[in-house]
Amino acid sequence: MRVPNPTSGNAGRQTTHPGRPRANIADVCVREHVPVATLVTFHAHPDDESISTAGTMAVAADEGHRVVLVVATKGEHGEIVDGVLTEGERLGDRRALETERAAEVLGAARVEFLGYTDSGMMGEPTNDAPGSFWSAPLDEAATRLAAILEDEQADALTVYDQDGQYGHPDHIQVHRVGVRAAELAGTPRVLEATINRDHIERLIAAQANELPGLPDAPTPDDVSTFGVPEAAITTTIDVRRVLARKRAAMQAHASQIAETSWFLAMPDEAFAAAFGQEWYIHRGALPGTLETSIF
Ligand SMILES: [Zn+2]
Repeated sequence: MRVPNPTSGNAGRQTTHPGRPRANIADVCVREHVPVATLVTFHAHPDDESISTAGTMAVAADEGHRVVLVVATKGEHGEIVDGVLTEGERLGDRRALETERAAEVLGAARVEFLGYTDSGMMGEPTNDAPGSFWSAPLDEAATRLAAILEDEQADALTVYDQDGQYGHPDHIQVHRVGVRAAELAGTPRVLEATINRDHIERLIAAQANELPGLPDAPTPDDVSTFGVPEAAITTTIDVRRVLARKRAAMQAHASQIAETSWFLAMPDEAFAAAFGQEWYIHRGALPGTLETSIF
């Protein structure tokens, strides 16, 4: 994996994972040669990164930026694809390995787990189990993430929208913890990864005859509460040029995403329509902001 070299004075910082100097955002906008910046993407479970911000990560890595992946839990309560785990193998261990593989595909330079346990779906007893991410005190969890943001001198952080895109407790917690961590660390750009609900509803309507044949394909009912309306989105990243790697990153999560699943079985054209853009709400952006880059 390629790790960009610091471009100027980083003397005196002795860390296990050296960060790099903070890019001047004004410089990023006006200079022809974009300085190296650091993007930290924060996720709830292994595979969330591949589904929601993989393209943004790969594009940033291709542009020479440093990309760091932080995952709150190891997704211990995920549904397991039949026959994937070997005898005695724990799901969390497998999913951590899958995350490392996906990160490599996407060009991430560093992967960290915050050390919490998957809280399961909303309303499950696992929500309140000791060590669950959902039950973690906000500032305790935020301090763990803030330490990474400070170490990396992160220029941008991605979290999820306030409903966690679709209401999973750990995803809602990613929003709360991520926003608080950015405050603690002084991270200047915070972007809430979300889903363009209008776009997905249009796609489902257009593919009404094909989708029902694919297992796990979302229904109009499923998506009616996904993400946010198009008008709420400030930042749209075109990731079509890295789509093969986005799909390969999903494939790395073999314990969760079967080859026969909707994600992996759909034809290239449909995959591009569904996953060729990634959407964000840039916190604090001026009304009317429409961006096409994360930095
Ligand atoms: Zn998740």
